[in-house]
Amino acid sequence: MSTGSPVGSHRVVSPAGVLPQAADQLDDTPDTAENEVRIRVERLNLDAASYRQLHTAHSGDGPAIRAAVLDLIERRGKMHNPETGSGGMLIGTVDAVGERSPLGLEPGQKIATLVSLTLTPLRIDDGLARWDGLSEQIPTSGHAVLFARSIAAVLPDDLPEELALAVFDVCGAPALVRRTVLRKTSARRARCTVAVLGAAGKSGSLSLAAAHDARAATVLGVVRDDAEAARLKATGLADRIAVADATDPLALAEAVTDALDGRGADVTVVCVDVPGCEHGAILATGTGGTVVFFSMATSFPAAALGAEGLAADVEMLIGNGYVPGHADYALSLMAANPPLRELFEARIGGGE
Ligand code: NAP
Repeated sequence: MSTGSPVGSHRVVSPAGVLPQAADQLDDTPDTAENEVRIRVERLNLDAASYRQLHTAHSGDGPAIRAAVLDLIERRGKMHNPETGSGGMLIGTVDAVGERSPLGLEPGQKIATLVSLTLTPLRIDDGLARWDGLSEQIPTSGHAVLFARSIAAVLPDDLPEELALAVFDVCGAPALVRRTVLRKTSARRARCTVAVLGAAGKSGSLSLAAAHDARAATVLGVVRDDAEAARLKATGLADRIAVADATDPLALAEAVTDALDGRGADVTVVCVDVPGCEHGAILATGTGGTVVFFSMATSFPAAALGAEGLAADVEMLIGNGYVPGHADYALSLMAANPPLRELFEARIGGGE
C-alpha cells in the first residue's frame, strides 16, 4: 500500500499537475493509500446553486436530472457540476482507515465530509435509483475517499442525518459572518448593520443567527417575496425584513437603504443561489463596508469590475467554506434557535 499525496494529487487523472478540485477527472477506485480514508456513502447533498442549475437546465424533469448527475459522477469520478463549478457534500460510514491517516477517524463512525464533492473521489453503485431527481439530497450507495488533508465531522446524535447534512453543507457561512462582524472595531460594531440576501434559505438563516450572536446592531433579512417574508418574520431571526429581487441592483439597493434608515449595510452577505447578485450587493453596501459572497453563483469579474465601475470602496470576501470550528458553531446556533431548526426542516425535501 502506497502513501498518497496529502492533498490528493495522486488521484488526479487529468489534466496533469492540478489539484483534485481543478481536475476534470479523478481516480475513484476503492483501493486506498495508507493515508486515505474510504467512506461507504449513504447520502449526497448537492449544493444549492448546482441543483438549481440542473433543475433549470432540465426543466424540472426528475429522471433527466438524475441521469445528468449520474453521468457527471461517472465521467468525472466526483460530483462536480461544470456549469456552476460547485458540488456539495456527503454523509456515510467510515469503511477503511489507512494506518497513516491523520484524520482520527475509526471504521464504523457515521460522518459528514466537510470538504467539497468537487474534490472528493466518488463512485456510485446503485445508479441513484432511490432518488427522484427532485431534491438536493440524494439517498444512494457507493464509496468516497478522503485524503490526509481533508476534514470530516462525526454526525451528532441529536440531529436527523438529513438535517445535519444540510447544516454542514453551509456551515462556513455563519462562521464567516461572525468573524466579519467581530473584526469591525468595537465602535463600529455597536452600530453595525448586517444585510443578508437570501435570508430565508439555509445559509441565509444561519447567517442571520450568527450576526445576532456577534452582536450586530441591526440584522436585516432580504427575501424575494412576501411569502418568504412572512416565513422569516415568524422565526424572529431578523430585526428587519425587506422584499427585493437580489438580481435587480437598483431595486435591491433601494430596499436595503430604505430598511436601514437611508444607510448602506456595513456587512452584506450574499446567500442567494442564483447568478447576478454582485452589483446589487455592492450598491447595497455602505462605504468602507464588507460584502461576503458566500454564493457559488458569484462571478469574480462581475464583482471586481462592478465595484470598480461603481467607485465602491468596499471590501469583498469570497465565502471560503472553511473557517476553524465552523461545524460546531453552526450546530450551536441550531441548538440555540428552535425556529432556525424549524425553517431548515421545512426546506429539506424528501429525496427517497
Ligand atoms: P437555499 O437554502 O436554496 O437559499 C437560497 C435563497 O435565495 C432561497 O431563500 C431563495 O428563495 C433565495 N433566492 C433565490 N433567488 C432570489 C432572488 N432573485 N432574490 C432574492 N432571493 C432569492 O441555498 P443555500 O443552501 O443557503 O445556498 C446558498 C448559496 O450558497 C448557493 O449559491 C450555494 O451554492 C452556496 N454555497 C456556498 C458554499 C461555500 O462554501 N461558499 C457552501 C455551500 C453552499 P426561494 O427558496 O424562493 O428560491
